[in-house]
Amino acid sequence: MDRQAVVSARRILTRLHDVMASRSHAQAKLNTVVEVIGEGLDSEVCSVYLLREGMLELFATRGLSQEAVHVTRMAIGEGLVGTIASSAEMLNLAEAASHPDFSYRPETGEDKYHSFAGVPIVRRERAVGVLCVQHVDPRRYEEIEIEALQTVAMVLSELITNAGLVDEDEGLFAGVQHTGPEQLRGLTLAKGLASGQAVFHQPRVTIEHVVAEDTEAERQRVYMAFDKMREQIDRMAAQAEFGMGGEHEEVLETYKMFAYDEGWSRRINEAIDSGLTAEAAIERVQQRTRMRMRQIDDPLLADRMHDLEDLANRLLRIVSGQLGTAASMGLRNDAILIARNLGPAELLEYDRRRLKGVILEEGSLTAHVVIVARAMGIPVLGRVRSLRGALREGDMLLLDADQAIVQIRPTPGAIEAFDTRFNRSRERQAAYAQLREVEPCTRDGTRIMVMINAGLRDDMPNLALTGADGVGLFRTEFQFLVSATLPARERQTRLYRDVLEAAGDKPVVFRTVDIGGDKVLPYLRRNDGEQEENPAMGWRALRVALERDGLLKVQARALLEAAAGRTLNVMFPMVAEPWEFDAAREVFETQVKFLKGLKKPMPEVIRYGAMLEVPALAEMLDVIAPRLSFLSIGTNDLTQFLFAADRSNPKLAERYDWLSPSIMRFIRRIVEGTAGHDVDVTVCGEMGGRQLEALALMGVGIRRLSITPAAVGPTKELVSKVDLGEITAAMAGWLASPPVSLRATLQNWASARGLVVD
Ligand code: PEP
Ligand code: MG
Repeated sequence: MDRQAVVSARRILTRLHDVMASRSHAQAKLNTVVEVIGEGLDSEVCSVYLLREGMLELFATRGLSQEAVHVTRMAIGEGLVGTIASSAEMLNLAEAASHPDFSYRPETGEDKYHSFAGVPIVRRERAVGVLCVQHVDPRRYEEIEIEALQTVAMVLSELITNAGLVDEDEGLFAGVQHTGPEQLRGLTLAKGLASGQAVFHQPRVTIEHVVAEDTEAERQRVYMAFDKMREQIDRMAAQAEFGMGGEHEEVLETYKMFAYDEGWSRRINEAIDSGLTAEAAIERVQQRTRMRMRQIDDPLLADRMHDLEDLANRLLRIVSGQLGTAASMGLRNDAILIARNLGPAELLEYDRRRLKGVILEEGSLTAHVVIVARAMGIPVLGRVRSLRGALREGDMLLLDADQAIVQIRPTPGAIEAFDTRFNRSRERQAAYAQLREVEPCTRDGTRIMVMINAGLRDDMPNLALTGADGVGLFRTEFQFLVSATLPARERQTRLYRDVLEAAGDKPVVFRTVDIGGDKVLPYLRRNDGEQEENPAMGWRALRVALERDGLLKVQARALLEAAAGRTLNVMFPMVAEPWEFDAAREVFETQVKFLKGLKKPMPEVIRYGAMLEVPALAEMLDVIAPRLSFLSIGTNDLTQFLFAADRSNPKLAERYDWLSPSIMRFIRRIVEGTAGHDVDVTVCGEMGGRQLEALALMGVGIRRLSITPAAVGPTKELVSKVDLGEITAAMAGWLASPPVSLRATLQNWASARGLVVD
């Protein structure tokens, strides 16, 4: 906005402020408003159309025939006014009649006016009306006049809602062209079906007051909000906390660039100068940017626009004090959560009874938020492009993560079809429940151990529900992730004891804390305050635990005390070299001695195991195997390191296949490397929970799987149909001379044998 625009908008706004403060009736106010705007913009005509019963009705006019008020009605999309409402974009025409959408209404007497400019009136992101001006001379309105018109439209939106002139639920969603049903495609991250209302993880702020009482005070509010936002962004960068959900540096860089962009803050200040409140000024500038960006068809820029939207929303939240996420406000109905990305702790803040599904613009199969969602039985669809632009809060959604689609605002027919599928899927689940008591054995009589992965107290009922053989991986760090502070020893002991209690005589393998990577704890920072370039390969898991051995000591005490009188299975994550295992074990042994000294009751047996997720350890199996009771292959990490492909980078989410000969050969090598030692070898990464992958794993000698609970039923069924001798021979052949696609070959092989797979 230049000076002149500021002055003219301000002049109009000052007068509008008086009009709004007056005690007159809403219609009388509107009548005055059109006079003020018409005069201010030197236009013979100024009209306001508002949405009533699905039609745009002329509510007030200066210049057109008064007989037309409440008589002239336009359908959405009809004429220039209808076009502005449906597209939520302004029009500025020197010759209105020559526009293809022009529709002449004789009752208005508008034929003598040539130029036309109109803007949508938007409320809660919906177009609820149109404000337009017309002029006798055929001239395009200047940009500054359009600016003023748009600013005034914001004020009008406040006036008309306060006066109850439009039904708030009626408007058309501004910025979204389609309000009918729509279908978007993504990548299945956690299978399942769900229906519910769209809830934005970071809710959009509703602007209540548009016209400022005190411009200087508004300016101060914006200054402070900018300071706070910059501080937040800088902190994110410093702590790499931002990486929690797999966001990248690139995004952070863009955030920083916008946060410090002088142009942006200047434009907001100018909008404040014109008489707007801080919130309205931020939104006003954002509207203008959105409009400009929409005219440029460039996917890269569109991505950047998302970043700017995120940031503008953050600024709005700070300035208006509406800081919480949707979790802190509570879910009122069955909800499908919408976010760009999430951290595992953020997901866990939601009410499990109401949260039915998650849709992310980013996300990857092994990101921890997805693992947590899978454990909670919540379907997740990821990599859904332009998600947030296609939806509005409260939209009905049908999420079919099995087929990787989401239907937005579905038709009644689609809802019916979905319900049928939903019921069928429930029936299938019920059929799996029948397998609860069945011990999984292959056709040729080999017992396969099928266990579950867990991490919270609430996961334990899954053991009984699925009839799994135990908990093959209990991720103890989940308790740390959901706590605001480091959990004290007593709290840890209580959790472990409850878990063992719930497991009864089935084994539980406790993995010591694996923190770092995409599991960041705000209360546990690196000593040197350095940001990690590459947290997945950085200071995480056992590396943290050995350096901060106080942490491991406390956990050892808690585990030893909780398992008194039972068998304790302890597993160390990310062991890269045998000495790391020894050192971690030593921390436990010291605690054992200490507790024995105190004559405390001890576990009857302590079994120590390591996770194999760093490829280097595979070369040292002959050295480490004699010291182990068990070894668990963490394929989530192992595969990211084998392929050098960050597991939480959404761009790589679909690039490499777990069913590749290199991975399967590698796993076979581990099985062979432990042969002859008394070591149980389990696969506990996500791949074990997928049918084709499980089949291939059995084919290379894996006899123990620890998987997501929902996969136990299907896996038991698969096991019962497999001939182990046959799959072992087939895998040996394929790994000796790999086919073009191991997945396709295996799929054909499985289908030919009636093994229903995926
Ligand atoms: C793994 O890496 O495969 C694993 C099971 O551990 P996490 O996913 O917790 O890193
Ligand atoms: Mg791991």
